[in-house]
Order: sequence, then structure tokens, then C-alpha cells
Amino acid sequence: MRLALLGVGQAGGKVTDAFLEYADRTDSDIVVDALAVNTAKADLLGLERVPVSKRLLIGTDRVKGHGVGADNELGAEIAADDSDVVMDAVAGMPTHEIDAFMLVAGLGGGTGSGVAPYLAKELRRRYEEPVYGLGLLPGKDEGGIYTLNAARSFQTFVREVDNLVVYDNDTMASGADSLASGFAKANEELARRFGVLFAAGETDGTAVPEQVVDASEIINTLGCGGVSTFGYASSPIERKRGLFGGKGRADVSDATPRILALVRQATLGRLTLPCEITSAERALVVVAGPPEMLSRSGVEKARTWLEEATGTMEVRGGDFPVPDADEVAAAVLLSGVSDIPRVKELQAVAIETQQSMRELSETADDRLSDLLWSGDGDLKPLF
Ligand code: GDP
Repeated sequence: MRLALLGVGQAGGKVTDAFLEYADRTDSDIVVDALAVNTAKADLLGLERVPVSKRLLIGTDRVKGHGVGADNELGAEIAADDSDVVMDAVAGMPTHEIDAFMLVAGLGGGTGSGVAPYLAKELRRRYEEPVYGLGLLPGKDEGGIYTLNAARSFQTFVREVDNLVVYDNDTMASGADSLASGFAKANEELARRFGVLFAAGETDGTAVPEQVVDASEIINTLGCGGVSTFGYASSPIERKRGLFGGKGRADVSDATPRILALVRQATLGRLTLPCEITSAERALVVVAGPPEMLSRSGVEKARTWLEEATGTMEVRGGDFPVPDADEVAAAVLLSGVSDIPRVKELQAVAIETQQSMRELSETADDRLSDLLWSGDGDLKPLF
């Protein structure tokens, strides 16, 4: 699957950077071109991989390059005013080479949250290729305003894209020393995991899959629209020592049960957005690893298991041979999921936040008067 990536806002830009780094490192063609869009100049300067000529600062007449301060309504207004700047840059991309657009944004902030859904609408109006979103949900401890932003953006983004793949930051592995290194690790992992899915059909001919998962399989899986979640699990393999010091053959005795175990693990315990899996409309499974470990019966059993576990008959699947790999990995995409407790919880907290913000703002004048009133009027303002 060959993508044009648009990273919007700080998180969107950083994840786009991570995708570019992954594509470089693995010499893969999954990112045809990439743009970073932001209202904050400093965030654009902090990027490492997106070329300087592909970094677009918008809204300068309104916010002077300082960002929107987590105000996603302002973000959406700026997008409406300046979307031509972004669309001109997209027109300069080799869009005839891509299979889809992907907009990446953190939904809790202001720029990605407000701008990305508007750009999705414009891209869908102008191009035939599907437009997907990769939306990052804020962690529960980030507070009310981030939750409110995310709930409103989520609603709008789902409506404007062909499918919104969601990554909940609360599923991020803990243990990093700081939030920044936690994010950097999460972004690298996100790119590596999605990379396996997108790169599966883009083999260079050195190792040919038995069942290819090409772009059309991914597009058909995402074609039901709505919300998607993604699971990934991997396990290292033992290799016999190579005769001439090279990598030896992997021990294939447990190839089939290993694949089944990995697909179950990816689906039941490792989703980027935990959900009730029986609410999925469609599913796709890719098993990657050294060719000798990709047992056909393992992939077929995994697909059958996924059909039974999700209750959907629309399960696509295939393999992705990577001759020198040191692990076997399973990637599972569940599309059109609708029973997602985290989204309901997000909405409930957002409504509560909205109510309390409204009440506070309605009583703000009275509270300020109370504060300034000095009782008997002895204190007079200066002028
Ligand atoms: P914006 O620049 O106004 O769009 O705001 P941010 O992109 O900083 O969005 C804030 C949200 O994105 C927060 O809810 C964070 O949880 C999340 N976030 C910020 N940086 C990263 C990152 O590098 N990776 C991930 N996964 N999430 C991030």
C-alpha cells in the first residue's frame, strides 16, 4: 500500500517522522510523499525527517506561528481559511502513484484535532483515492479539555474520512523515563507495526508471498467505513547455526501453532483501541516472518479462528515473507468496530467538562465582581 501522509499538529508531525524513518530503515516504498501541517512554527522546526519544503505553517495571520493553544474550534477555522495552501502542496505530490491518503493527528490538542477533519473533507472532495485517518486519543489522565477536544474531533473526523484507525495513547507501553521518550517509543512502534501491514503487498520480488495482501485487500477491509482498531504481536525465533556463519534456518516445528497463538494475542490483548471484537464488520490478518515459518495451514487456521471469534465472514489474510527476520509477527486489522467502551467513556467525560465550562463561564462576571467589591466602597480604581 503506497501512501501520501499528512501529519497534522505536533503529534501528527512526529508520527509522520516515525513513518519516514521506518520506511528509510526498511527500504520500503510505503510512503510516496509526506507533508507536515501546523499552526506552531516551533513544532515544525522540531521535525527531523519531513523535508523542510514539505512543512507547512498555516494560520499565521491569526496566531502568528504560535499555535492555537488547544482550541480546536480555532484550528478548524484556520483550516477553512488556509486549506488552499495545503491543497496546493498536495497537488504537487505524485498522487498518481498512491493508493490512499492518510492523515495523522492527535485528537486531544487544537491543531491536529481541528485541522485534520477539515483537510479530510477537502481531500475527499478533490481526489478519487480513499482518505484514511490515524487518530491518536489522549490518555485518561490528560484532563477534561483534551478529552472534550478528542470527543468532538473524533465525531467529525469519523464523518469526514473513509475510515478512522484509532490509537489510544492509554494502550502505550509504560516504563519510559519521560513523556517525550514514551511518545518517541510509541511512535516508533506505531510506524513499525503499521509498516508491516502496509508493506506486505509491496514486496520487491526477492521473496514472494503465498497469499499476497496487496493494497486492494486493505482498501476493501477499510471499505466498510467507520472506526478501525489494529492489533500486533510478535515472538522471536530460534535459528539453527548457519554452515558458513550466515543465518541458519529457523526451527519450523512449531510454525503453525505459533501463528495461531500470535494472531489470538494480537486480537485479544493488543488492540490499539480495545473493543468488543464481535462488533467488527471486516478483518484482515497479515503474518510476517522468514518464509519457512509462514506455514500456509497456520495462516488459514488463524483466519478461521478470526472468523469465529469476530463472527464476521469477511476476513482477509495473507503472508509477508521477510527472509532475514528474527521474529514472526501477526498484524490484525478490525474494521467497522462499533462497541468501544473507551469512546463512550470519552464522550461522557467530554459532556461533563462542557457543562462545567459553561457554568463557570456564565458565572464568571459575578465571581469577579464579588472578588473586586471592597465592601463599603472605600477603595476606588485609579481611573
Ligand atoms: P496540536 O499540535 O495542537 O495538534 O496538539 P498535539 O499534537 O500536541 O496533540 C496533543 C495530543 O496528542 C495529546 O492528547 C497527546 O496525548 C498526543 N500526543 C502528543 N505528542 C504525541 C506523540 O508524539 N505521539 C502520540 N502517540 N501522541 C502524542
